[in-house]
Amino acid sequence: MINYKLLTPGPLTTSRTVKEEMMVDHCTWDNDYKQITQKIRAELLELAHVSPEEYTAVLMQGSGTFGVESAITSSVGKDGKVLILSNGAYGERQEDICRHAGINYRIQHFPYYETPDAAVVEQILQEDPDITHVSMVHSETTSGILNDIESVARVVKAAGKVFIVDAMSSFAGVEIPVADWGIDFIISSANKCIQGVPGFSFIICRLDELMKCEGKAVSLSLDLYDQWKGMFDGKWRFTSPTHVVLAFAKAIEEMKEEGGIPARSKRYADNQKLLVSEMAKLGYKTYIDEAHQGPIITTFFYPENCNYTFKEMYEYIKARGYAIYPGKVTEAETFRIGNIGEIYREDIEKLIAIYKDFLAEKNA
Ligand SMILES: *Cc1c(COP(=O)(O)O)cnc(C)c1O
Repeated sequence: MINYKLLTPGPLTTSRTVKEEMMVDHCTWDNDYKQITQKIRAELLELAHVSPEEYTAVLMQGSGTFGVESAITSSVGKDGKVLILSNGAYGERQEDICRHAGINYRIQHFPYYETPDAAVVEQILQEDPDITHVSMVHSETTSGILNDIESVARVVKAAGKVFIVDAMSSFAGVEIPVADWGIDFIISSANKCIQGVPGFSFIICRLDELMKCEGKAVSLSLDLYDQWKGMFDGKWRFTSPTHVVLAFAKAIEEMKEEGGIPARSKRYADNQKLLVSEMAKLGYKTYIDEAHQGPIITTFFYPENCNYTFKEMYEYIKARGYAIYPGKVTEAETFRIGNIGEIYREDIEKLIAIYKDFLAEKNA
């Protein structure tokens, strides 16, 4: 079996012990299993810095997009209107979600290398009183930019609107004081910074806003309110991804052993900085400037007069133990390197050594 580590933003490289949890076929209706689900839900609230009196965590089958779609469609419903702030493909995906579900929306585009500006949001909310919800991405994995959700939250809350955040690739990899910032719905998934395997997403919901979702969903399986109601004792409404849930419970445990979000976010940030400084020495510049660059994934430009393709570079690196990622920004030729998952300083050092060999071979 080929073995390489993933320098991609999820699925990512997980520990052997997380994978080993999946060697058990667990039944879903008994108390053991329900307790595992309930423990996960409680721990997610802790990671979000919210109290169970004010918030609840709902687990949703499917990949991250299912969670975003569930939160937007169930909370905005047919009567509301959502303002989407977009500076990347995941913001654009929210528009796609609204189009498919027939949900009223307005989208405000920002360049991929700029963060959404709270002053612009404030202006739009003043001129368009029909808007009931504001939705945005925290870490735009398209580019690696880390958006300033705190400043946007301030104007959204001042205007009395509901705030939805796709924190898929940042939750637990970057501290997010969800209650302090007034986020009503925040979404992430099992296979990002908590370092589980893919199979479900989760939505941390402010309870009073979740209550308002009753009967609003436009989809049966993605009905956030019904999923929550059904999950009150830890039983999932429809078949749950049991192996993934067991792996996720273990991943949370390992995250605590590492030292929680403070230790994990430091590891990610240190490795990202090392990556950028070493890549700079080899002539690779970043697409996002340092002030806005997040610690999750980095977009690099190809150097001038580049004499190799992504495919050549990818195959060379993969054969030596690491999988990198193609670029996704639309207006420039780029590639991406993620550093979340079971990736340590020595992995970045090894990757840089591989790059040096590759460039020497190419006479680049
Ligand atoms: C990974 C990711 C998603 C979810 O994508 P899926 O392919 O559905 O898992 C959504 N938003 C962001 C910002 C992501 O990084």
